[in-house]
Amino acid sequence: MSDPVSPPAPAPGPADRDAPADLDGAAAAVALASSMVTGAARRLSEGDLDAEQVVAYDLAHCAAAVRGAEAALQYGTLGADEARLACAFVADALADLATRVLGREAAFATTPGWLGPAASFVSAYRDPAFLAELCGVEGDRHLDADFALVRETFHRFAEEQIRPRAEHIHRANADIPEEIIGGLADMGALGLSIPEEYGGFAGGGESDYLGMVVATEELSWGSLGAGGSLITRPEILSRALVAGGTEEQKRLWLPQLASGQVMNAVAVTEPDFGSDVAAIVTAAARTDGGWLVNGVKTWCTFAARADVLMLLARTDPDRAKAHRGLSLFVVEKPRGEGHGFVFTQEPAAEGRTGAPGRMEGRPIDTLGYRGMHSYEVAFENWFVPDANLVGGPAGVGRGFYFQMAGFENGRLQTAARALGVMQAAYEAARDYATNRVVFGRAIVEYQLTRAKLARMAVLIQVTRQFSYQVARLMAKGEGTLEASMLKAYVCRAAEWVTREAVQIHGGMGYAEEFPVSRYFVDARVLSIFEGADETLALKVVARRLVEQASA
Ligand SMILES: Cc1cc2nc3c(=O)[nH]c(=O)nc-3n(C[C@H](O)[C@H](O)[C@H](O)COP(=O)(O)OP(=O)(O)OC[C@H]3O[C@@H](n4cnc5c(N)ncnc54)[C@H](O)[C@@H]3O)c2cc1C
Repeated sequence: MSDPVSPPAPAPGPADRDAPADLDGAAAAVALASSMVTGAARRLSEGDLDAEQVVAYDLAHCAAAVRGAEAALQYGTLGADEARLACAFVADALADLATRVLGREAAFATTPGWLGPAASFVSAYRDPAFLAELCGVEGDRHLDADFALVRETFHRFAEEQIRPRAEHIHRANADIPEEIIGGLADMGALGLSIPEEYGGFAGGGESDYLGMVVATEELSWGSLGAGGSLITRPEILSRALVAGGTEEQKRLWLPQLASGQVMNAVAVTEPDFGSDVAAIVTAAARTDGGWLVNGVKTWCTFAARADVLMLLARTDPDRAKAHRGLSLFVVEKPRGEGHGFVFTQEPAAEGRTGAPGRMEGRPIDTLGYRGMHSYEVAFENWFVPDANLVGGPAGVGRGFYFQMAGFENGRLQTAARALGVMQAAYEAARDYATNRVVFGRAIVEYQLTRAKLARMAVLIQVTRQFSYQVARLMAKGEGTLEASMLKAYVCRAAEWVTREAVQIHGGMGYAEEFPVSRYFVDARVLSIFEGADETLALKVVARRLVEQASA
């Protein structure tokens, strides 16, 4: 890390570093925004949400910004710099809300000028002089000693093991080296959510979720595709097994997942059904001693290297049963290398009768997020023994719920992935701006660059604190709505932060030789997977807000 960027002479008003930030003003502004959101949700609850998708989508993002602003208020109580970051976040969040509502006041059940009472607060903390002066203030994470150690440990691993390899993996579309996988396994990163009794490191309580967030951010700072995202796969399968597996299945699979002896991929999405998971058609039909899988999955990331696939399939051919006709399987397969694979099963060799089985993986080339590789996987009579049906006979028809339990934590973890990418992009931009001289001055001395860097740091620190709060809520069995809001908000924020980081690099931001170009393309996927932004906003956040409003 380079030296913090040194600020110019302070300007009067909030730009004065010594002036206490107006947290009361921030709290009043947040209360105003919160009541606008509640009023809009109440109005939407009176009609058909799907007929008002545009407003519902904006409402969801407004609510997420308000929830983030509430996290900022708490953070702001921790110190003077924290308070200034909080005020900057709140002012920007309100400006965002204002543009979403502008011209649609009736739809939001409000009137032009609704923001009036907070106008002077917003002006003060969107003041360019304030933002320029804020540049270089990054804020403390306020992690206690245990979590600070978790952070330090994973940061060091990312710096020493992941970063030196990340560029090559991205530019050569190469495989993730076994040293990274083995290293993560040795550090316990693959068993963060696996209970201790099953060979993992989850002791129950806050530390499981917060530790996962902290570790995921640091690994994603090293690389999204070759670091942070590697630990999301065992997380999903192990949570699904904990939720629905038989005792025997837990004892068999969880220790192997925790140690990295068994690596997994997740096969849920299909070519015709992504957001609409309940409609999937890949079939698992009963046969002697097990199930025969036929169908096509897509976007199955890590499918070649994985030893098992967590597969969601339709076990009841009656499609009217929708999600109630789905079951979850742990599908064993050989480990593959390279960018495509074909595996076959010979029933006679396995002491069975019937047609040979086939599993073929076709790689999907992507803009970024490289290393694990994503595949379209076609199954033809692929045999899965009864023992691999999650939950045993009682698991038939319950697969949708088990996979949901698997993904429950995924939104929080994806937010942590976004944080790591943003932090990496911010640091790259900050360092480049300090060293790059244009028109006779380092670009960090220009007001516009300073304001950009300040806003990036504000977004990162506040959404990080938001993610810590959600982790604590989830540890208490709460926070699923907040996790969705956080995911939606922070993944969009990552697009803006990485975009500005590229921009600060000028032409070199577009050169592959600078990692910032990788951060930009990597960030783009975050709003697509683990709940596409629109689906998450409409079907989870807006729907819940409307339910709450009409309760
Ligand atoms: C790099 C990458 C890795 C992935 N890894 C995996 C993996 O390992 N395993 C796995 O199972 N899946 C994986 N996915 C798949 C991912 O989860 C899906 O892409 C995602 O769920 C969206 O589904 P879809 O692509 O079919 O988009 P669609 O469902 O076709 O949606 C297309 C667009 O329409 C919007 N939309 C959908 N419904 C509505 C609506 N009702 N109203 C308005 N807008 C709507 C969506 O938000 C989206 O913008 C991965 C995807 C990517 C890109």
